[in-house]
Amino acid sequence: MKNIAVIGAGTMGNGIAHTFAQSGYKVHLIDISEDSLKRGMDTISKNLDRMVSKEKITEDDKNDTLSNVSTFTSIAEGVKGVDLVVEAATENTDLKLKIFKDLDANTEASTILATNTSSISITQIAAAVSNPERVIGMHFMNPVPIMKLVEIIRGYNTSDEITITIMELSKKLNKVPVEVNDYPGFVANRILMPMINEAIETLYNGVAGVYEIDTVMKLGMAHPMGPLQLADFIGLDVCHSILEVMYDGFKNPKYAPCPLLTNMVRAGKIGVKSGEGFYDYSESRKAEKVSEQFSS
Ligand code: NAD
Repeated sequence: MKNIAVIGAGTMGNGIAHTFAQSGYKVHLIDISEDSLKRGMDTISKNLDRMVSKEKITEDDKNDTLSNVSTFTSIAEGVKGVDLVVEAATENTDLKLKIFKDLDANTEASTILATNTSSISITQIAAAVSNPERVIGMHFMNPVPIMKLVEIIRGYNTSDEITITIMELSKKLNKVPVEVNDYPGFVANRILMPMINEAIETLYNGVAGVYEIDTVMKLGMAHPMGPLQLADFIGLDVCHSILEVMYDGFKNPKYAPCPLLTNMVRAGKIGVKSGEGFYDYSESRKAEKVSEQFSS
């Protein structure tokens, strides 16, 4: 496996492209707009600069990594000749079904189709493809270049061969793959999102402020960052979508997004990527400080 396409250049897509490119794979990074691609490439470059300044990689490693990534605004063009596609577009079921229909039409039957979805059924996404045994969940964690875990989700039809190939590939990226079955939220978000939602509910009920809630969880539970700050990093829109998928999937009110989360998403305060969420990231110094804390 040499050539990989990554669909979506946002928070996750640029991290996934970075990780494959740094391991020597040729990456086609695909997004709908040139602007998103530019932002994605700038983020990869900045993250590589940070690694150079921490002496984790050399300037040559940085340049080699960047030269392994090329950008496309068309899926049909970007997936030509690739061995694997990792889809990391916006968390929306209809959008993912449309993308996988496009992939069905534009890739060889031997191309593996992975999705980085946080919660949407792999089996449902795979149903958009004529040979669903080649569709699998490859759920990287944020920030991708740093976090070790990849949750590997087998859909109802995913073949053993594809599962083994993707488990082995994850190890080549220096990650630790864990195989799980296909139910809403899989394992990571089934446990994480109720905790984040409860932290937001605690704020909404006026039990404590943002700083107090995050400090209790950081110092009291030894979490590297508080749940509200983590939600800002994940994206409040992404958290909201994941909770909706679990709420729909289990028909259990315990997964209903807190009204405060819904309001913040409606107001466009969706965390780091919008400049404001539970914290203010508008001054670049502030955002950098938080992001350094996250990556150390
Ligand atoms: P994001 O909003 O940061 O980025 C999504 C990108 O997809 C945007 O750049 C957008 O322009 C692009 N896009 C939308 N429609 C597209 C299309 N038709 N073709 C190509 N690109 C398109 O979102 P994100 O946080 O990177 O999430 C991406 C996926 O990764 C989601 O499925 C999400 O659930 C999952 N995920 C997110 C996190 C996280 O911490 N944010 C963690 C694990 C998994």
